[in-house]
Amino acid sequence: MTADEARQKLIDAGRILDDAGQGDLTRGHVSIRVPGDPTHFYMKPHSFGFEEITPENIVLCNLDGEKISGGGRKHSEVYIHSEIFKARPDVMSVIHAHPTYAVAWSATGKPLQPISQPGIAFADGVPYFTDTVDLIRSTEMGAGVARALGSHKAVLMRNHGVAVVGATVEEATILTLMLDNAAQIQLLAAAAGGPGPLFDAGSIQRLHDNITRAEQYTINFEYLRRRANRKLA
Ligand SMILES: [Zn+2]
Repeated sequence: MTADEARQKLIDAGRILDDAGQGDLTRGHVSIRVPGDPTHFYMKPHSFGFEEITPENIVLCNLDGEKISGGGRKHSEVYIHSEIFKARPDVMSVIHAHPTYAVAWSATGKPLQPISQPGIAFADGVPYFTDTVDLIRSTEMGAGVARALGSHKAVLMRNHGVAVVGATVEEATILTLMLDNAAQIQLLAAAAGGPGPLFDAGSIQRLHDNITRAEQYTINFEYLRRRANRKLA
C-alpha cells in the first residue's frame, strides 16, 4: 500500500463510519499506520465529521502523539491511538467512537456474550477500561487504554466509548460496526429477560473463525464504501 492509498482508506473508513451513525458530532476518530513506517500514523482531524476527511486535512502523528504535519488540528485523544500502536505491533488501524448501544452496554459493566453473529465475532472477549470517564488526553491515560485492551480486538471504555483495532483499516471499521450491533442485540435480549442457553464452545469458535476472516472484512468494507459514496454523491 502507498501513502496515498492509506490516506484514501482513512477517507473511506470515515465515510463508512459516518454512514453508520458512529460520528457523535465530530468526536470519533480513525487512524492508520503509514505504510512502511510503523512509527507514524495518519489520523482524522479534530473539528470535522467522519465523512469530511480529505487528503489536505489528515493529520500525521508520531507514537508520542505529536502532530508532525497535515492541515487539520489533532484530536486531544490522539493518545488512544499512539499508545495502542506502541503496544500492539500487529495493529495497523485504531478507531475510537462513542456508539450509542456499545456505550449503553458499557454502562452495565457486564461481559458481552456470544449470542449473535456480531457477538460471536467478539467471542474471545471484550475487556473493560475503567480507569476514568475523562477524555484520554495523556500518554499515561492512553497507555491505560492499551493495557486494558491487551491482545483483544476491542475495549469497552465504561460510560464513554470504544476503542477497536485491526490488522487493516477494513477490519477495524467492520469490527466497530459489529461491536455496536452486538451490544444492541445484547441490550434487547437483556430487556426481554436475558439470553437463553448458548451454543457449545466448539460451534461458537467455528463461526468466530469464519466471520473474522480478512476476506470478510474486505467484502463488507467495500460494500459499505460503495453505499456511503452513493449517498454522498
Ligand atoms: Zn472519546
